[in-house]
Amino acid sequence: MELLHHQVILHLKHTFRTSREASDQRRNVICRINFGDTFGVGEAAPSIYYGQDADSAGEALRRAADRLAGDPFLLEDLLADMARLLPHQSAARAAIDIALHDLVARTLGVPLYRLLGLDPGRTPRTSITVGLDRPEVMQRKVRELGPAPIIKIKVGGERDEEIVRAIREITPAILRVDANAAWTAPQALEKISALEAYDIEFVEQPLAADDLEGLRWLQERTEMPIVLDESVRTAEDIPRLAGCARGINIKLMKCGGLREALRMIHVGRAHGFQIMLGCMVETSVAITAAAQLSPLVDYADLDGHLLIEDDPYEGVEVTDGKLILPDRPGIGVRRRQPRGEDRP
Ligand code: MG
Repeated sequence: MELLHHQVILHLKHTFRTSREASDQRRNVICRINFGDTFGVGEAAPSIYYGQDADSAGEALRRAADRLAGDPFLLEDLLADMARLLPHQSAARAAIDIALHDLVARTLGVPLYRLLGLDPGRTPRTSITVGLDRPEVMQRKVRELGPAPIIKIKVGGERDEEIVRAIREITPAILRVDANAAWTAPQALEKISALEAYDIEFVEQPLAADDLEGLRWLQERTEMPIVLDESVRTAEDIPRLAGCARGINIKLMKCGGLREALRMIHVGRAHGFQIMLGCMVETSVAITAAAQLSPLVDYADLDGHLLIEDDPYEGVEVTDGKLILPDRPGIGVRRRQPRGEDRP
């Protein structure tokens, strides 16, 4: 197998703010695995929060290139080997995992969801995320979205209730709120009871990732479902979170790819969790890969490709919020043709 990779700079439509950070562009890494006369494509969207960036992901992919050999269908063995080689580079491992799944399904000539036994008609609707800003600016961004059935609102500042009220005033959409670990437990209980007036579907990561005692205390005192994101990276994290929340947010870049994400879906279900599939700022490569699993989940937040100006790929489409999977073999992505050029 030949593993190639290159960096891509993605420009965001809006400066993206959470309670932790702000950015106008991202550097991701696209990889391609060649095998015989076929290939697979993958993507790493490394996150500084998890101690990774495009340089460390690129270095990890160089190391992986020296090691990756043999039968690409032996996904379990190959990916276990990558986990041993690159334990702290989950985004780079996700890139390899996505490319191998793409390659295998392309070789068989079927869309990945068919190989996994999933019905493409059962994809959920995705939310679109609005970054943290002043209430009037966030209101304007929601107007610019046009009709979006589900909106995820980043909060975690001084004006959380004002923000949610401002957005609720102008849209009947389903609203989700993500505090990115910004609140303390008593604060969260107060804020959540205030937010109940605005018909919120759930609150994501209200407290610090490791404050499990606080999360349990909070979930026992509110009817509002709590969904955990920063608190859960891999399947191993799930058992101890039982009782601390109602749902978990699975991301390929946190867990290392489709294989581990599938494991997490099943482990999460076994512990009574609702399942959400989320993303980083990603091109259509990683988003379409994640969307292949979406018939299995309750909530999707797969909007990373919609936040960027210059997605070099096309794959999953979003129609009235619903994820529409491509029916091409593999994960179903292809390079976007430059404007004006005829499609093959
Ligand atoms: Mg989140």
